[in-house]
Amino acid sequence: MTMTDTPVPVPRLERIVSEIAQEMAEATDRGRVADYIAPLARIDPGQFALSVVLPDGTQISAGDADTRFSIQSVSKVFTLALALGKMGEQLWSRVGREPSGDPFNSIVQLEYERGLPRNPFINAGAIAVTDSILSAYAPKEALGQILQFVRFVAGDEDIAMDPTVARSELETGFRNNALANFMREFGTIEGPVEQTLGVYFHHCAISMTTEQLAKSARFLAYDGCLRPRGSRVISARMARQINTLMLTCGHYDRSGEFAFRVGLPGKSGVGGGIMAVAPGQAAIGCWSPGLNRSGNSELGSRALERLAERTGWSVFAPRWDRGADACANRAGLLFARKPDQCGRTKNKRPARCRPKSNSPADNRSFHGWKSGIWCACFKAVPWWTTFRCASCPGR
Ligand code: GLN
Repeated sequence: MTMTDTPVPVPRLERIVSEIAQEMAEATDRGRVADYIAPLARIDPGQFALSVVLPDGTQISAGDADTRFSIQSVSKVFTLALALGKMGEQLWSRVGREPSGDPFNSIVQLEYERGLPRNPFINAGAIAVTDSILSAYAPKEALGQILQFVRFVAGDEDIAMDPTVARSELETGFRNNALANFMREFGTIEGPVEQTLGVYFHHCAISMTTEQLAKSARFLAYDGCLRPRGSRVISARMARQINTLMLTCGHYDRSGEFAFRVGLPGKSGVGGGIMAVAPGQAAIGCWSPGLNRSGNSELGSRALERLAERTGWSVFAPRWDRGADACANRAGLLFARKPDQCGRTKNKRPARCRPKSNSPADNRSFHGWKSGIWCACFKAVPWWTTFRCASCPGR
């Protein structure tokens, strides 16, 4: 993994993004486009786009970044934010927060668990969330609210729903009908099933470009704000909760694999879109319509893995390794604190990391496994040399 201790410079990021687009253009195994409705089945699988929006608003894109696509299940992130904002913690009596390990449209688990969907990102969970929005608004009003919210967070009034997609979903949504009716029986859904499904199918039919998708993810990348310390859209707590759910449940029965490979919260849809965030660093939109067997974009997942690898972005990267918090350059110190191989920055390094001898005459470095941790202590950079960094309070 590429480790960075400064934000990724824009020219480098531009290179990374266009290299990835180039690599994806050459890929031959592109997955299969969703074919359950005609408007998705006829999309050309040869397309790919990647867009990144940085904290200062810089937008970097490559590939078919101007092409609109159906965001489908990515819309579940926006409805979750809306429902949470409206109902607060009460929402969790209608939907769980556990990964399902099952396909996105599975009905089996719902029966075992007495009509309570595992999480808001499988179909059953998203239908329950939509229904909870309908407890506060009439269907048309609810759709208006959803669209208004998406346009607001994306800063783009051009975003719209595709009526052809919505109609096809309505005509063929037999399984979603089954899920909704099943939940109605258990009281998870309170309103008329047709109304709830009508709104659900319409929000799945929102179309966006990857640039719009990346911009609409900013409020999750910046702790609930549209830019770092900018105007707040949702509370920081809520943004973090949604990101957690995207990380653990955002890719259905491949969520663990996506988290393992990419290390960033992300939400996919059967239109081939993936929205992802590198908290504090970037908001990302990616699209390629060919899907893997779990219904996630094949090339999109691969591209995000490469992006994370080449930028060093990961929610599991320690603070000192995140661009925004890196000490060395901000403080402008010649000898800024640098973590050692064991990630220690304190004066006292644990015994297992110490070189065998500290004698100045001994210029060798020590490399080796100690209690299962690879230790490499270079004498050239004395481990006892540490400097406090003024811009990192409390550290
Ligand atoms: N509209 C799709 C459905 O309900 C959304 C599924 C998805 O994107 N995974 O089947």
